[in-house]
Amino acid sequence: WKDGKAKRKPAAAFVVIGHVDHGKSTLMGRLLLDTGAVSQRDIDKYKKQATELGKASFALAWVMDTGSEERERGVTVDIAQHHFSTDKVDFTILDAPGHRDFVPNMIGGASMADLAVLVVDANQLESGMKGQTREHILLAKACGLKRIVVAVNKLDSSSPPWGEATFEQVKDEVTKLLTATGFAAEDIAFVPCSGLNGQNVVTPVPSNGKTGWVASSSRTLLQELERSASDNVAEATIKASLRMQIADVFRGGITNPLSVSGRIATGNVQVGDSVIVQPSGETAAVRGIEASSDGVEWAVASQLCTLHLTDIEPQHLRAGDVLCSTSKPVPVVKSFVVQIQALESILPQGVDVHVGRLHTSGIIAALITTLDAQGELLKKKPRVVKAGQSANVKVVLSDGGAPLEVGDRVVLRANGSTVAAGKVERTGS
Ligand code: GDP
Repeated sequence: WKDGKAKRKPAAAFVVIGHVDHGKSTLMGRLLLDTGAVSQRDIDKYKKQATELGKASFALAWVMDTGSEERERGVTVDIAQHHFSTDKVDFTILDAPGHRDFVPNMIGGASMADLAVLVVDANQLESGMKGQTREHILLAKACGLKRIVVAVNKLDSSSPPWGEATFEQVKDEVTKLLTATGFAAEDIAFVPCSGLNGQNVVTPVPSNGKTGWVASSSRTLLQELERSASDNVAEATIKASLRMQIADVFRGGITNPLSVSGRIATGNVQVGDSVIVQPSGETAAVRGIEASSDGVEWAVASQLCTLHLTDIEPQHLRAGDVLCSTSKPVPVVKSFVVQIQALESILPQGVDVHVGRLHTSGIIAALITTLDAQGELLKKKPRVVKAGQSANVKVVLSDGGAPLEVGDRVVLRANGSTVAAGKVERTGS
């Protein structure tokens, strides 16, 4: 594995987060255009349609919403993948298409990502600091993402124009929010840029003129993304038992009638292997593997890939299920204790349980302890966990349980908002 990995170009996947209208889709369209992943001809086509609808400025954003062949074959493609490459790195954008139900899809995307790009409109710092941005940052952290690149966006805007002082202010405020959420200062990078006209996304701005400060104060967004891509997966992780959560299921290809995509969390998989699908316990045979759009013989932990499967019925493959090695399948558990950070006050109550791409329901059956900031015991059997507190709670799952292990990251939601997130401490049958 080691030799094979060394030859591979590093790959990195990222999610894009931030408040609606701060320019996420436009910026991603710009990255795809300026790295050559989509052509100016494609953009012009969208521009014509967009102009007819009086929304010319949306042409770049529409690139992100087009129906790819994958989308058409997908049974439930809630996380679209867009690819672009540089000389150094193969990138995948994990995108929650359409913005409807953004958060559950973002959790699914973030659980497959190496890093997050946070887009903040420099002229809308106030909305950038609360609501959606805040929730997305908490979720990115809760899903285990360590590194975050902040695109301080709309550098071109003239109402009002902004410069270095605004950039520094955004940097201060966003750093405060990110470090309070648990990101380390050295894992945060800031890039002033404009998705709309492309300044400092792929192309650096000239060092003279009005925006000269940009060249001296930061890298381009692409350079910052390249710097964040690392390919250091521990050998032990690669040698561990296979574990890959299914992100999406595809049917109906001529040569590959049944395929699943996802990220290999641990272990490795080879063409010819048998795998077990949990929670159903059904086995399947791996007939083909694609990684970075190429057919390969094997893939290892941290890679995003598509597996072509046979010897299994389609109804046994669902998004959120976990592919495991036959020798050590992930156990299906009915309950677990999770150490959470509460975002809202919590009572024993029904919750939606999200584990990466898995959505299920359950109840918070017991509040076990509340903890102080150092993780020391505050109170046993509290009546309520207040917003902002840490606590251990027991969750009982409905629907026969889910494949879960100690250390897995869980997000609890209720009535469409995130109430808590944390790591599994113990599991129960
Ligand atoms: P999203 O909701 O975060 O994905 O935002 P969109 O990409 O859909 O953009 C929202 C609006 O902001 C659209 O009208 C865009 O044309 C506009 N916009 C996006 N990026 C920029 C930018 O860099 N500069 C300016 N001036 N407007 C932008």
